[in-house]
Amino acid sequence: MPELPEVETVVAELRPHLVGRRILAADVLWPRTLAAPDQASFVERLQGRPITSLNRRGKYLLFGLDSGDFLIIHLRMTGRLEILPGNSPLRTGPHARAWFDLSGGECLVFIDARKFGRIWLVQDFAELLGALGPEPLDWEFDAERLAGRIRRRRVAVKTLLLDQTVLAGIGNIYADEALFLAGIHPLRTGASLSDDEIERLHAAIRQVLSEAIGQHGTTLRDYRPPYSPEGAYRNNLRVYQQTDLPCPRCGTPIQRIRVTQRSTHFCPRCQPAAKKETP
Ligand SMILES: [Zn+2]
Repeated sequence: MPELPEVETVVAELRPHLVGRRILAADVLWPRTLAAPDQASFVERLQGRPITSLNRRGKYLLFGLDSGDFLIIHLRMTGRLEILPGNSPLRTGPHARAWFDLSGGECLVFIDARKFGRIWLVQDFAELLGALGPEPLDWEFDAERLAGRIRRRRVAVKTLLLDQTVLAGIGNIYADEALFLAGIHPLRTGASLSDDEIERLHAAIRQVLSEAIGQHGTTLRDYRPPYSPEGAYRNNLRVYQQTDLPCPRCGTPIQRIRVTQRSTHFCPRCQPAAKKETP
């Protein structure tokens, strides 16, 4: 699933091609892709509207329109956005779920094989995005703010990192990579972490996300950047999907466990379990 670095890459690569252009017409081909409003209002409110901004919040893409509406897209598992020639047959291809004809003759197409992706058109995005935690790359997100959000939680730190109300944008790949860099076992609870460990975790989160953005994200299966050939951070993964391969730091085979239904990769030597921890 695309996480913060992948969505950031999509936004950065699409922005120069979309901002300033007008949506001439739109349609939804798979009704459940559209979460709100109904399809008739969606099509009517988009028609003729110029796109004034394109930004990211967590894993959501936010298109600002001159009407004050926001077109919001969540790619979920397999969703991707492509700018195609207006007459491309892929515009209504087998996995196309929605299209937006643009001034200038091209078409923005939402393609989503697994159909979990969602689109909203809203006046006020607070209802949808208001519960999201802080952006981990914002300058004001310091170690103290991270501590305030996890220090009292008797929940596995891996689970906390995946919780979008704790932090926005982190998923399975970057949670595992950040915990490895910080030397923290994924099953340690938030409450068990020392100030030093929280500082290391904070630095590690920002490091892995920034590095991954620099590499256009991580291409494993479905994710492709709109214009770059691939998400090259896949070549930098230290533990994620590296089960049984040697730890890049100490050579111990990387282990895989399940933490709240998600496969979790770590080095048992560099990320020791807590000695005694009361649950
Ligand atoms: Zn190791």
